[in-house]
Amino acid sequence: MSKKSKNLEPNTGWDFDPAPEKVPVEIKAQYDLFIDGKWVKATSKKFFNTINPATEEKLSEISEASEKDVDLAVKAAAKAFGSWSKLPGKERAKYIYRIARILQERAREFAVLETMDGGKPIRESRDVDVPLAAAHFFYHAGWADKLEYAFPGLKPKPIGVAGQIIPWNFPLLMAAWKIAPAIACGNTVVLKPAETTSLTALRLAEVFEEAGLPPGVVNIITGAGSTGAALVNHPGIQKIAFTGSTEVGKVIRRSVAGSGKKLTLELGGKAANIVFEDAAIDQAVEGIVNGIYFNQGHVCCAGSRLFVQESVREEVLQKLKFRMRSLILGDPLDKNTDVGAINSAEQLKTIQHYLSLGKKEGLEMYQNAGGTPKKGFWCQPTLFEDVAQSSVIAQEEIFGPVLAIQTFRTIDEVIQKANNTPYGLSAGVWTDKGSKIFNLTSELKAGVVWANTYNKFDPTSPFGGYKESGFGREGGIHGLAAYLNLEG
Ligand code: ADP
Repeated sequence: MSKKSKNLEPNTGWDFDPAPEKVPVEIKAQYDLFIDGKWVKATSKKFFNTINPATEEKLSEISEASEKDVDLAVKAAAKAFGSWSKLPGKERAKYIYRIARILQERAREFAVLETMDGGKPIRESRDVDVPLAAAHFFYHAGWADKLEYAFPGLKPKPIGVAGQIIPWNFPLLMAAWKIAPAIACGNTVVLKPAETTSLTALRLAEVFEEAGLPPGVVNIITGAGSTGAALVNHPGIQKIAFTGSTEVGKVIRRSVAGSGKKLTLELGGKAANIVFEDAAIDQAVEGIVNGIYFNQGHVCCAGSRLFVQESVREEVLQKLKFRMRSLILGDPLDKNTDVGAINSAEQLKTIQHYLSLGKKEGLEMYQNAGGTPKKGFWCQPTLFEDVAQSSVIAQEEIFGPVLAIQTFRTIDEVIQKANNTPYGLSAGVWTDKGSKIFNLTSELKAGVVWANTYNKFDPTSPFGGYKESGFGREGGIHGLAAYLNLEG
């Protein structure tokens, strides 16, 4: 029996040992802050626990950086900027290439750690997050000595100290997205990971040490919202790069206003994934599943609103439900797992709140049967059928494995519905007509539009949104520009 057909019968008939990955990963009992190339105690002397969301077991204690610690980190970065910004690009590149190679060498360890701390399936951290993180360092290392060719006729200069705040859904990858372009352009960095997922950013600091990156070029400070706010408000920061919720993005925008700090915001999303009747339906169903159930739907560009052309509604729904039933929810460290744990108890509560709202609205809900493990935070893949445009399920970002399905008849109708959202980060289109793809991509108000694929990422490709999804781009030449002063 092929692996594929076996996947159709979850939890039954295994003829091999589905033993989880057992790569030993050393996790310290406590982690200090990484400031000026050294591990230093937080002046607050406070720690908070980081747990494995699949087991609720405590993994380690993480330092809570105070305002004083933020100040020390920013000062270290400002001091390092003096020499790092003057280093020839090809010398900066050597460090960044080294970081990329070490990440590759330690890929397995990073993948296991990411999965333990965040709950995502090992297959995703192993095949997507870690290789892409390394790719971001490789790609930006390549730019470090070619910046004047990226911006012909301009004189690109680094900005200064970048304060970077990242979320918990792609902890290592987001750190790489932010740090690689910043340091390639000659800036220095103070980065704060999200409070539920600090471990891989801290381990990345070990990679910086191993690569011999000069002290202070990248500082990693841990903590929650107040630490992030202290970083945003510090006068020694010249650039803020934030990825997270629209709510916090708005707060940051207000606090930065008038300060002269450069700002990029990558915020929430409620992407339309549009399936036309002429699409390759089986392929589209794979794209729908990947679009919403990848990383438990903890993806800002998740295809959380499915628009199906009315004529193929039955076929798509039937195939989608069939495919959903084949998804294996369980131990994230098991390489056969498709759906891992929800990142935190708090996020599970948010998701459950939306599920009950949907039911209260009278929507038809379909959820995979099969129950969930007793310990940990879990949500079976879920969809709501025939969701009204005005429904909260179609309007608000849930950030979980919950799909809102709507139908449409004409291209104009679907464009109007797809754009009827405060967000504008991404979209997907499934059709065999190139003309439809071109028509739609110019009409959809979304920073990224995938055609006949979904959730494809590459360091060369700019990523970012419109409207309440934020502004500025990360990746590609556009992403470099966000870390440079460009003068004629
Ligand atoms: P989510 O709602 O998905 O958890 P958040 O926007 O709350 O996303 O968190 C994203 C990042 O922003 C995290 O690193 C978090 O600690 C940080 N953060 C939260 N509140 C603030 C704030 N007021 N100022 C700066 N950073 C913040």
